[in-house]
Amino acid sequence: MARAKARGSGSPPPPSGLVRSVDAFCEELLREAYQVGAGLKAKGSEAAIYRKWRSLFLPSAMARLPEGPARTRARLEEFLKVGYVDRAIAPWQDRRRNRLLAATVPWRGDRLPFFSASVHLAELPDREDRRELYGELAKVWRSVGQEEEGAWATFGEGVRALGYPDGRAACEALFHYRVPHLLRETRRFSASTEKLYGTLLGERADLEGIARAEVRIYDAGRMLRGTSWREHFPSRGVQPFLRRTLRDLGLPWGAFRPDLAVRPRKNPRAFCAPIRIPEEVYLVLRPVGGHDDYHTALHETGHALHFGLTDPALDPVFRRLGDASLTEGWAFVLDLLFLNRSFRRTLIPNAEFVRFFALTQLWMLRRYAGKIAYESRFFQDPLDPGLRDLYVRCQSRATLVRPDEQGNMGDRWRSDVDPWMYTAGYLRAWMFAGSFTQLLEERWGERWWSEPSAGAFLARLWGRGQHPEVEDLLEEFGLGPLSLRPLEGLLRRSVEG
Ligand SMILES: [Zn+2]
Repeated sequence: MARAKARGSGSPPPPSGLVRSVDAFCEELLREAYQVGAGLKAKGSEAAIYRKWRSLFLPSAMARLPEGPARTRARLEEFLKVGYVDRAIAPWQDRRRNRLLAATVPWRGDRLPFFSASVHLAELPDREDRRELYGELAKVWRSVGQEEEGAWATFGEGVRALGYPDGRAACEALFHYRVPHLLRETRRFSASTEKLYGTLLGERADLEGIARAEVRIYDAGRMLRGTSWREHFPSRGVQPFLRRTLRDLGLPWGAFRPDLAVRPRKNPRAFCAPIRIPEEVYLVLRPVGGHDDYHTALHETGHALHFGLTDPALDPVFRRLGDASLTEGWAFVLDLLFLNRSFRRTLIPNAEFVRFFALTQLWMLRRYAGKIAYESRFFQDPLDPGLRDLYVRCQSRATLVRPDEQGNMGDRWRSDVDPWMYTAGYLRAWMFAGSFTQLLEERWGERWWSEPSAGAFLARLWGRGQHPEVEDLLEEFGLGPLSLRPLEGLLRRSVEG
C-alpha cells in the first residue's frame, strides 16, 4: 500500500512501471470491493482509490504504452480508456451505492434494509403483499434517480472525450462485442424457446394459483425461488458440496481462499475477488439454504479456479486484463453442471426440479436477450426519456411477464443496466460455455465432471489466464462461431432426459 502511495501522483510512471501500477491499482480496488462485500468494512469509496491513482488515467499515460506485442498494448490501452471513464463516474457510483446501503423500506410497522427487502419480496406467499412491497422498493429506486442520471451523463461525456460517437460504439470497440451478431442470435433463441418457456412458466404459475398470462413482475422472484426444494440444499452442505466437486475433478481445494464466515454486513450475493492473481483469490459465500446457494457457489468457484490456477509466470497483463466473457464462460461451464443429469442426481432426484431449474435458466437467458435488445439502444443515448417505456416493453416481451399495475417497473430503466454492456459479455460467456460443455461431453461423456483427466484439461486452460479471447478457444477446439444453439440443446435434453 505504501509503495502504491509513493507513485500516486506526479509524472506518469515509466513503461514497465505502468503494468505494475495497473496491477497494484486493480489489487487495491478489488481489496476494497472484497472488504465491503464480505462485511469487513461498512462503507467503501472507489472514488478515493481512483483519486489516488489519477495519474494512471491521464491521456499522457495512454500515450506512453510500453513497447511489446500488439495484444499486450491493446489490453493496456483498453483498460486505461475504460478507467478514464470509470474514474469520472466513481463519485456518482459511490453516492448511489452508499445511499442504497443506507436506505430502508417501511414494512408491517418495521423498517427493512433495502437489500433485505428485495430478497424478502421473493419470500412473500401473498400476492397483494408482493404488489405492495414492490411499490415500496420502487420509491427507493426513484430516490437514486439523480445519481443515476449523473453517472450516465458523465459516462456519455467520457466516451465522447475518448473519440467514440456514443457508449455503444465505445463498448463494441473496447470489449470487442459484435452487438448485431448478439442481437440476431438472441432473437433466434427467444423465438425458438418461446413454446418450451411458456409451458414451464405456466406449470409454475399454476402452482402459485396464477394464470400464466397474469403473471406480473412482482411474482417473478417468488416463482423462481424454488422454496419447495430447499431441504435438498441445506446451507451447511455448500462447502462439502464444493469440496466433493473439486475432488471428483481431481482439482486442488487450496487454489483459492473460501470465505464462509457469517458477518452481519456480508452481502448475500456470492462473489469472487481475485485480489492478487493467482496467490490471493477469495470465494465469498453466504449460504442461506436453497438451490441457488449451490448453483451460484459453482459459478463463483469457476471464477476462483480460473484465477487461482492462472500460471504465476504469465505476464501480469494477461493474468489480470482481458475478455471478461472468458472468465464468465469458465464460471458457466461449472454452473451448467446443474443441467447435467448424472451430476444433478447426486444432489436431488426429483424430476420436477429439472423442469423448474430449466425455467430459471430460460428466464435468465431470455431476460438477457431482452436486456441486449434494450441496452443496444440505451448505450446510444442513456439520457433519452423514451427509453423508460422501451425497457418495460423489451423485458415483458422477453420474459412473458407483465409489468406491475402502478407502472413502477419502468423506474429501473437506468439501474437494470450492466456497466459497459457487460450484458453482452454474459451472453458471449453462455455461448462459449454451451459449446465447451459439448466438447467435454464428447471427450469424457456425460460424467466428465468425475474424470480427473477432464479436470487436468481444464486446469491447463485456466493456466493461460486471460490471454485467450473466447473466440480463440472456440477456434482452437473447432467449436464453431459463438451461438446459443449448444446451450439450447443442453437445456432441451435436461428437460427431456
Ligand atoms: Zn460471474
